[in-house]
Amino acid sequence: MSEVFEGSFTQQEPIPAEGIEAAVRVMEHGRLHRYNTAGDEISEAALLEEEFAAQVGAAYCLAVASGGVAMTTALRACGVKPGDAVLTNAFTLAPVPGAIAAVGAKPVYVEVTDDLVIDLDDLAGKLGQADVLLLSHMRGHICDMDRCMALCDAAGVVVIEDCAHTMGAAWDGTPSGRWGKFGCYSTQTYKHVNSGEGGLLISDDPEGMARAIMLSGSYMLFERHRAAPPPQVFKTIKYETPNISGRMDNLRAAILRPQLRRLSEQAGKWNARYRAVEAGLRDVPGLTLIERPAKEAFVASSFQFLLKDWPEPQVRDVIARCLARGVELKWFGGAEPAGFTSRYDSWRYADVPELPETDKVLAGIVDMRLPLTFSLEDCAQIARIIRSEVGAVWQAA
Ligand SMILES: *Cc1c(COP(=O)(O)O)cnc(C)c1O
Repeated sequence: MSEVFEGSFTQQEPIPAEGIEAAVRVMEHGRLHRYNTAGDEISEAALLEEEFAAQVGAAYCLAVASGGVAMTTALRACGVKPGDAVLTNAFTLAPVPGAIAAVGAKPVYVEVTDDLVIDLDDLAGKLGQADVLLLSHMRGHICDMDRCMALCDAAGVVVIEDCAHTMGAAWDGTPSGRWGKFGCYSTQTYKHVNSGEGGLLISDDPEGMARAIMLSGSYMLFERHRAAPPPQVFKTIKYETPNISGRMDNLRAAILRPQLRRLSEQAGKWNARYRAVEAGLRDVPGLTLIERPAKEAFVASSFQFLLKDWPEPQVRDVIARCLARGVELKWFGGAEPAGFTSRYDSWRYADVPELPETDKVLAGIVDMRLPLTFSLEDCAQIARIIRSEVGAVWQAA
C-alpha cells in the first residue's frame, strides 16, 4: 500500500495570540481607520510602518491595502504614465503585469533562466525600451542584484522590487526591497506574514514616498505618519498628487506587528522545511533541483523543481499521480491558466512576445507551497511521494 499525504497545502498557521489580542483591542475601541486616533494616540498602522522601516533599514514605509496597491502606487510615484513601457519578469504572477496595466502602461517581458530568475543578458538588451523595471523576486528566487543594479543604474532605469515572496530575504547581506527605489511587499494570507489582505511599501526617496503617501489616500493627514518624510517635502506634492484610496486599516496593522517580530524565526522554520524536501529529492533521475547561490538568503515558503525537456503528457502524469497521493503540485507549462497559476501568454490585455527561453523553462517548472503547518516529517513524506512518482513515470518513458 503506497503512502498518502494527508496535510493541506493551503492551511497557514493561526494568528499569534498577541496579534489576536491586539486586534480585539482595536475592535473594542472602534478606531479602525488609520487616521481615527484619540488624543495623542499613535495608530497601529503608523506603528507598523515605523517598525517595518526599522526592521529592513529603510528611511520610509507606507502600509497599503494589498501588494498590488503597493506596486501601482510605486509605479505612479515613479512617474509611470499611460502608454509607457515597463520592464518586468516573464515568469511571475498575474498581479505584477496587472499592476503595470492598472496604470495604463505596457509590460515588456524579460526572459527567465533555469535558476528561475530574470535573465540579466536579456534584460541588458531591453533596457533601452523603458525607464522602469518592476523586478519580481518570483517564488523567492533572487537574481544577482549587484549586476542587475549596475546594469539598470548605467542605463538610468529605475528599479521597483516586487518582494511578495522575499519578505525577510536578502542578497549579499542587503535585504530584498532595499536595492531598488521602492520595495513592495504583500501581507496576503499566502505570503510571509498574514493579514488576509495588505501590503507594505518602503523607500529612501523623500519625494517618491511623499507622492506614495498622498496617492494611498492620506488626505492632508500625512503628518500623522511616522516613517515618512518631513512635512516640507509635501509642500507642492500635496497639490499635485491624486488621492487613490488604498490605505491599510488599524485592524490589519495590529495583526501584523507581532508577526513581523517573529519573521526571522519563521524564516528559519520555512528553510528547514525546504531543506527537508530538497534532501529527499536529491539525485532523482529526470528531476532538476534549483541550486541556491551562496549570496542569496532566501525565505522558502514554496518549493520548485524542473522536469527539464519532459513531454507534456508525462509532466501531467506526474502531477496527477502525486495529487492522487495527496501532494498538490502546480505546473507553469499548461496552456490554460488554472487557480493562481497563469503565464505571460494568457495575459492577453498586453502584447504577447516571443520568449523561447521562458517557454522552455515554464514547460518544466513544478511548484509547491510549503505552509508552516507542515512538520519536517511531512516534508520528508512529500519528497518520498514525489520521488516515487517521478521515478515511476521516468522509468515507463
Ligand atoms: C501575491 C503576489 C503579489 C501581490 O500581492 P497581493 O497582496 O495579492 O496583491 C505580487 N507579486 C507576486 C509574485 C505575488 O505572488
